[in-house]
Amino acid sequence: MQRAQNLSEDIDFAAVTEWKARGVGRKAIGHMPTYVPRELIHAAGMLAVGITGGGDKLEIIRGDAYFQSYICRIPRSTIELALSHRLDMLDGMLFPSICDVIRNLSGMWSMIFPDRYVHYVDVPQNFDTEVGGRFWRRELETLRHDFAQLSGVAIDDEALRASIAVYNENRHVIRDLYRARSERPWIFPMSEVYYLLRAGNVLPPEEHTSLLREYLALAPLETSRRDQDRSRVVLAGMFCEQPPHGLVMTLERAGCYVVNDDFLLGLRWLQDDVATTGDPLDALVDAYLNHSAMSASRYAPDGDRGRWLIDSVERNRAEGVIFAAASFCDPALLDQPMLVAALDRSGIPHTEFKFAEDTGQFAVIREQAGTFSDSIRLWSEA
Ligand code: SF4
Repeated sequence: MQRAQNLSEDIDFAAVTEWKARGVGRKAIGHMPTYVPRELIHAAGMLAVGITGGGDKLEIIRGDAYFQSYICRIPRSTIELALSHRLDMLDGMLFPSICDVIRNLSGMWSMIFPDRYVHYVDVPQNFDTEVGGRFWRRELETLRHDFAQLSGVAIDDEALRASIAVYNENRHVIRDLYRARSERPWIFPMSEVYYLLRAGNVLPPEEHTSLLREYLALAPLETSRRDQDRSRVVLAGMFCEQPPHGLVMTLERAGCYVVNDDFLLGLRWLQDDVATTGDPLDALVDAYLNHSAMSASRYAPDGDRGRWLIDSVERNRAEGVIFAAASFCDPALLDQPMLVAALDRSGIPHTEFKFAEDTGQFAVIREQAGTFSDSIRLWSEA
């Protein structure tokens, strides 16, 4: 756990610098949260590095000059990380199409760092194989070409299938971890799972998989962990800017077992194994079109925006939902009324608050989450 914590809190990314130093000519590609095809980066022998802003460890000095005040914090803190040379070890940066803010950030990046590789990854919002599928395949071919040029390593189909298998393993163990936490959240508390997931931002996938396996084996041996009278809740709204760890701890202390969430979706966007036979680009296209996670930055082809949340509540036997959106996060806050309506139709209790990655005062959140948790327990006993 200590290692996971250190890795997830290190805003100097020492693990990435060390990884690069372990081999000649190694390169690292950063990417903003949500989905990018990390398999292609891996197949080129490079390290994919998830960038989730500066958290609560970074004072923003110059980053504020790049964005208006009514904008979430993650783009400013990411700019601050870059201007303070903390991202100098990155050889390129990917900006998946999360929202307009990230689109603008990619443009700023190109202007600030004209000598570095920058790519706006325009993921499809059409899920028809002949439309969004063809579009996404072209985008993947572009990335395959760019990464081969950047790394000097041709990405053949066999290498890409091998990388897909590595990430299948990683996603598999993350699913195991989420299942285990949902079954026994007192053994696998969210405050630990969160650090472990964040470590996956900077570790090679093989190492991250080993770390999670070790944790899954060791956590149940901690005999002092006992089931307590808490409410089981699903967290929603944190798919891009990530909450400070203190906020996660606060929710647990307020009497909640977090049994599902949308943290760090980029690590688990593809919800099923990707095929390791046949054309690997077609396999990645199929996985994106048919097995993607749902989030506010993704179009819902069936128009049923709340279905995934209701499913999550039912699958995890949750008793309520906490919407915790980043302050000024347009996609999350625009999605919220539709999700709330879906929960209301199903009679599922919910509450909501906003946060920023550097939120430092948790008293109000603790009171609100604690009252929510208490009221769920009172209602269910009535
Ligand atoms: S937190 Fe929301 S508004 Fe801000 S960059 Fe992420 S998705 Fe966009």
